[in-house]
Amino acid sequence: MAYLDEIKATVKARNPHDREFLQAVDEVLDSLEIVVEKDPSLLGSGIFERIVEPERQIIFRVPWVDDKGKVQVNRGYRVQFNSAIGPYKGGLRFHPSVNLSIIKFLGFEQVFKNALTTLPMGGGKGGSDFDPKGKSDQEIMRFCQSFMSELYRHIGADCDVPAGDIGVGAREVGYLFGQYKRLRNTFSGTLTGKGLTWGGSLIRKEATGYGLCYFTEAMLNDHQKSMAGKKVVISGSGNVAIYAAEKAAQLGALVIAMSDSKGYVYDPCGIDLDLIKEIKEVKRERIKVYADMKKDVTYVDCCKDIWTIPCDIALPCATQNELDEAGAKALLSHGVIAVAEGANMPCTPEAIAAFQNAKILYAPGKASNAGGVACSGLEMSQNSMRYSWSSEEVDAKLKTIMESIYQNVAQTADAYGHTDNFVVGANIAGFLKVAQAMKEQGI
Ligand code: GLU
Repeated sequence: MAYLDEIKATVKARNPHDREFLQAVDEVLDSLEIVVEKDPSLLGSGIFERIVEPERQIIFRVPWVDDKGKVQVNRGYRVQFNSAIGPYKGGLRFHPSVNLSIIKFLGFEQVFKNALTTLPMGGGKGGSDFDPKGKSDQEIMRFCQSFMSELYRHIGADCDVPAGDIGVGAREVGYLFGQYKRLRNTFSGTLTGKGLTWGGSLIRKEATGYGLCYFTEAMLNDHQKSMAGKKVVISGSGNVAIYAAEKAAQLGALVIAMSDSKGYVYDPCGIDLDLIKEIKEVKRERIKVYADMKKDVTYVDCCKDIWTIPCDIALPCATQNELDEAGAKALLSHGVIAVAEGANMPCTPEAIAAFQNAKILYAPGKASNAGGVACSGLEMSQNSMRYSWSSEEVDAKLKTIMESIYQNVAQTADAYGHTDNFVVGANIAGFLKVAQAMKEQGI
């Protein structure tokens, strides 16, 4: 019997249907067995019982009127998971798949991720089952205003600072902020990912993707390798994927494939990012359009098959559980040397096991995609100072943070006898920081 089995059983009993949340909790608790082995006193401290239970969960009705005048109702969520080391911090996701399990898993992961950033941020997450796809700009605005009409009373610059995630970008943050300001009559840094002329940080848009590549490069350099000259496959074509592709190309890699939820494009000469940005950021169209517009590009209408493309580095940047065992085996059969997660929990437990058994470099999202929230932390600092740093300053800070996350994760894995197991390193390093704060603050 493992030390933390009882905790796992309690979480299962309390959240019997929350598949994604249970998956995330199991993964973290499995890594923490060796921490308990070293320090059994942790078991009596109540830390584990508390760290798996959100401090507060808010569920609310979001009524809004569509363009035809019909009343629509969606469900809104904010899970304030842990505030031991700072205000709750984490994005909002608008996607039809959103439910309490998804928001809890994301909030739980955020607690450890934010602890790794070196900045004082607790963990939270929110969102709605609202589907922004196919909605008019006015509908998006009315939805965001209604969502914030409830959320505003639960958040604040020193309490809970939401940002974007899937389906929530600069446009949505703008409408959410507008409504927050109207209701509170204060101009504060309560949301991050804001527009650049009203408190947003330079590089925030690029930060998750850039940070992913800074982390990957640090991990490769530590193993006498680099991104230069490598073939890279990136799933997704949202904010994370686009700026991961941009930075990978700047580091000398060749990005040969990207995807959306309907399919992928394979461009052996290297993806034309200006065209992808035009299609995805400006026109908000399907990635298939890229293949329609460019010669010698293959389009396949199954996004999961992207992992069958031979490559050296895979960066899953789409969504949870998008890379399963079959995908992992396909990547390994073509000699992939590194997989680093840009999305949250994109690899299934079976895929992770396959990568670890094959001893390739595998970076979990809570370490490798922490650049987004790290830059949000820098936006909070700039807002508090009523000041803004230049792109170069923010980018340099982001790079330093990602390199120090890599060092921390690698050294922690090493110290616990699991060299190069960055899952163990990230979970333990994040946990120890939060656990110490919880211990010092009492029950
Ligand atoms: N949604 C991003 C994440 O998963 C960023 C959150 C934030 O900036 O608060 O980390």
